[in-house]
Amino acid sequence: MKSINRFLLDHGLHIANNPCVSPDFCLDWDALAAKAIGRAAHLLTIYPHSRFETACGTWELFEDETGDCGWRLAPNQRNTSTDSSAGLRDGLKVDDHWIFPATFENLLALKNLVQAHDSSSTIFPLATAELGRRSLGIGARFTTLHWPAVDWAMGALGLGLTANQNSIPRELVYDVDAMLAGRLDTVPFPFIGTSVPEGHQGQSVEGMSHGCVLSKLKTGFHRRKIPWSFNADHQPIGGKFDLREAELVHGCILASYITFDLSPELALTHIPADARGWVSSHVPALLVEKVKTRIATAGLPLDETSFNRLLAYVWPAIEKMKRRDKAYTAAREKMFSTEIGRAYLRELSIDELPGLTAPETTAIMLALCEALEMPVNFVAPAFGFQKNSPYADNAALRVLIEKQWEVCRQFETSIGFHSGSGKSAENYRVMGEVTGGHLEIKTSGRYTYEMGRALSASADAGDRALWLDWHAFTLDLAVDGAFSEDETERKMARCFVTDSLMRSGLSPEPFSSASELRKALKALPPDPDHMFWFEYNFLYVLAAGGRAAKAALGDHSAEGYLQRARFYSISDEGRLLFSKNVAGYIVFLAENTGLAPAHRCAAARASLKNYTSLDMMLNDIPQPSGDDRDRG
Ligand SMILES: [Zn+2]
Repeated sequence: MKSINRFLLDHGLHIANNPCVSPDFCLDWDALAAKAIGRAAHLLTIYPHSRFETACGTWELFEDETGDCGWRLAPNQRNTSTDSSAGLRDGLKVDDHWIFPATFENLLALKNLVQAHDSSSTIFPLATAELGRRSLGIGARFTTLHWPAVDWAMGALGLGLTANQNSIPRELVYDVDAMLAGRLDTVPFPFIGTSVPEGHQGQSVEGMSHGCVLSKLKTGFHRRKIPWSFNADHQPIGGKFDLREAELVHGCILASYITFDLSPELALTHIPADARGWVSSHVPALLVEKVKTRIATAGLPLDETSFNRLLAYVWPAIEKMKRRDKAYTAAREKMFSTEIGRAYLRELSIDELPGLTAPETTAIMLALCEALEMPVNFVAPAFGFQKNSPYADNAALRVLIEKQWEVCRQFETSIGFHSGSGKSAENYRVMGEVTGGHLEIKTSGRYTYEMGRALSASADAGDRALWLDWHAFTLDLAVDGAFSEDETERKMARCFVTDSLMRSGLSPEPFSSASELRKALKALPPDPDHMFWFEYNFLYVLAAGGRAAKAALGDHSAEGYLQRARFYSISDEGRLLFSKNVAGYIVFLAENTGLAPAHRCAAARASLKNYTSLDMMLNDIPQPSGDDRDRG
């Protein structure tokens, strides 16, 4: 048994209440197989929508009450005499069929079988041209609670999306063995005056990769044949990440879309005084010529001095990006047998570079990527966005985007809008209009907010208790922060609480003492629109014992995961509310960016309003309802 599965089982943690931590979706195959063999077959759920074919037969997904999953293969007649294991491991013959555990290794084997048999299959994430042109990036912080809503929205809108996305290793555990060995690094969060272990949402990248595929099979989303992608977001290039390059590549094997974030290497790079001389001795002259010619043919201006300075600044990072890109390609060639199975999209994130991105910078970066034969589908310049707050001046935003789009369209690259959550409808409209829909809006934190909104609106006592504890946790962090010795932490905390007090019509004066502030904040009815709740909320998911102590945050021991289990134990009503909120937000984004026509969005909203149970909503995922017939 793998160490991670042993760890989870030893602490009573199961997939049902802690999904996507293990790369496997079966922690205890002996127990699951025993049930399947007959002694307790009635304890299993077989998912009828999951059925799919490969050359060796018909497959179905089954699950027990702990969330452990297995594959059931009914072999083709002609195949029974040959190798019935179909390339999967640990199979058992039960009567006329075979069963296999849903291990990560078996998932990889299945991907080859599925894609070799049906090149139009949408069970696994894909890298189609359309997904590389226009999309919405949907961060999946609540994994199995979250995906059905995304699948519903894609179905209702007839629109493929980046349906699984999170930053690795920042939000997701990049390697569960490193986690068990206590080798996870930390991520500085200046606004709380401390560093938190990376992977702060608890799930692993492989677990997420596995979960999002199984989720689609359970709901039957794959029957709609809508391609979707999985973005390994903000893959850090260079700097301290050089040491674990191989693990990062390995963990993201199922991602069909990679975002390259050069900032770790750039942070260590200093522009030499003689940039021109440095460039001529470090960058191949042929490449420099190629880049210059490309920029000239695109009719874009190029200033020799700033060109050399930029090239000297980014070249070490770009070389490492190329090295990493080769590693992603090689890993896919080794693991997957089909072209569609190996393909992946690329995004270059440059919004981490200081200041607003100049169009010239974007042009040079795109020309470099093109010349090095790693063309990017999306590029993310900095527009000066703040997470979860609208861009105040729409006219100014239009001008900024127009300048970038003028460059991007010449490279047939779409614009990635990072920190895209919480912008105004007008902001999204401008993004869609200027780019003609050649864009991706990345959203992630928004869905944690939607969970808070769902729990706070739920009538279920357990949901309410979780909501109140969650809000109190952020209130404690806010009060501690407002009186912290650390200046950044104190400033930020005071800004969050001031906003919350003013929103409630109170004067933001009670900084005389922590107890006065606590009293003032406690007098407010807990509200997901409290800025302090919004800013600190993600830290609660893996806070040991739910404690608002810095040492308790991002706890990858059993205590942290027991805390995480609270979210996966919410009521059906809580799940329905959360699903409606997530789907509703996607519809809102799709409508305003123009990615889906208004009438489809209106129909989707009407359906959402009518659902009185989660089952009702899920039942509409596999087959188009009446409103969907005009698709295409
Ligand atoms: Zn970025």
